[in-house]
Amino acid sequence: MAKLLDKQRYKCALGAMQTVQAITRAIPVLHSGPGCAQKLSDSIGSSGYFSPNIFPCTSINEKDVVFGGTKKLETTIENALKVIDADLYVVLTGCIPEIVGDDTGEVVSRFEDADKPVIYASTAGFKGNNYIGHEQVIDAIIEQYLEKSEEKEKGLVNIWADVPYQDLFWLGNIRELEKLLVEIGLTPNTIFGYNRGIDQIGKIPKAEFNLLVSPWVSVGNMKKMEKKLGLPWLHLPTLPIGAFETGKFLREVGKFAGIPEETVESVINEHENYYYYLIERYADLFLENRVINKQFSVVADAQYALGITKFLANDLGLVPAKQFIVDDTPKQYREAITEEFKKLNFNLQAEVIFETDSYKIHEQIKEHDYHGYPLILGSYYEKELTESLKGNYLNISWPVQDKVVLDDFYVGYTGGIRLIEDIYTVAVQRFN
Ligand code: SF4
Repeated sequence: MAKLLDKQRYKCALGAMQTVQAITRAIPVLHSGPGCAQKLSDSIGSSGYFSPNIFPCTSINEKDVVFGGTKKLETTIENALKVIDADLYVVLTGCIPEIVGDDTGEVVSRFEDADKPVIYASTAGFKGNNYIGHEQVIDAIIEQYLEKSEEKEKGLVNIWADVPYQDLFWLGNIRELEKLLVEIGLTPNTIFGYNRGIDQIGKIPKAEFNLLVSPWVSVGNMKKMEKKLGLPWLHLPTLPIGAFETGKFLREVGKFAGIPEETVESVINEHENYYYYLIERYADLFLENRVINKQFSVVADAQYALGITKFLANDLGLVPAKQFIVDDTPKQYREAITEEFKKLNFNLQAEVIFETDSYKIHEQIKEHDYHGYPLILGSYYEKELTESLKGNYLNISWPVQDKVVLDDFYVGYTGGIRLIEDIYTVAVQRFN
C-alpha cells in the first residue's frame, strides 16, 4: 500500500548541490530535469558567487528520455567550462538520466584533460536523501580527484562535520571546530565556506588524520579515505556543545593527536572559567525564574538531536523527554546512536525515536506529559504545535523560517552560551 510521508525534513540526494556550493568556486553541473535545482534550493543563504538559478543544467526532456541525454550533457559541460569561472565542476545526476541509463561517468571521462577538474556523483532522488547525496559528493572527490600523498604535514587535521546548508549553523560550527583545534596546537583543514576550496581539497591527503564529528554522516567517506589515502580517522559522534562535551572533545582529539595533556587541560581550564562565570551571572534566571519547564524534546537530524540533548542534560540539568531523529538514519547506525543517548550525566537516559513522519512525531509530543511547558527545539514544523501546547520553541533544524543565521553557531563553549541565550530569550519573552 502506498505510504504517505507528512512534512519530510530533508531533500532528495540531488540536494547535495548545496554541498558543492559550499566549496568556494566549485559549481554543480546538473544532469537533471528542469526545475530540480529551483525546487531543491533554499531561499536563505544560498545566493553568492554561484547560486542555484545559474547552475548549468541539461534540463532533459521527453526526447532525451527516448534517445538518451549524454550528448546534451557533453555540450553542457563543454559550455560550463567555457563560460563559468570555477575551480571544480561537479556533475550531479538527477532521477531521469539514471532511470534511462545515461552513462554519466563515460561522458565525464571525456573531460579528463580539461584545464579544470570535472568529476561526477550519482545523486538521483530515488537513491536517498541529501545526507546520502552529501556523502556521494565527498566520495566523488576521494575517488576521482584525490591521490595518496607520501608527504605529511605535521599537526594537519581534516575536519568533517555535518551537511552544509541542511545544517543551518554549518559555517559557524565548522569555523569554531577549527578554532578549538588551533588552540590545542593543531592545524585544521576544512573544505567548506569562505576562503576554503580547491587548495584545501588538495591538502586532504597530507593530513595526519581525519576527524569526523557526526553520528553517522560521512562514516563511509572516512573508511574510503582510510583505504585509498591511508588516512587514519577519529570518530566523535557528538557535536560538542557547551562545557562538558567540548572538554571531552578536546581531550579525545588531543589524545589521538599526541598533544601533551597539560596543554589541553590549560585550554579547557581557561574556557571553563569564563563559561561558568557567565552561567553564574545568570544562575538566578536558570534556577529561580522557572520560565523553562523541566523536560524537552529535540526534533532534528541525528547530529543536533544528540548534541543538543547532551548539552541540555549535562550542562543545564534539564530532563529529556522523547528525542526525535528525522534524517532517515541508515539502519546500521541506529543502535550505536541509541546507545549514545544513554550516556548522559546524572544517570539520565533519553529515549530516542527514529521517525521521518511529522504527523507521528507530533502525535507523540502531544501525548507526552512534560510536567509543565514543553521545550521543543526543532524545525519550523514544530512551531504551531508548540504554540498550541503553550510551550517554548526554538527553530534549530531544517526547515528554518524563524531565524536568520549568517555565521552564528552552537559548537564549543561559545556555541553553548549562544544556545542558552536563544533558549532563555524565548522563555523570558513569554512573560513580557
Ligand atoms: S527527486 Fe528526482 S526529479 Fe525530484 S528533484 Fe530530486 S532529482 Fe529532481
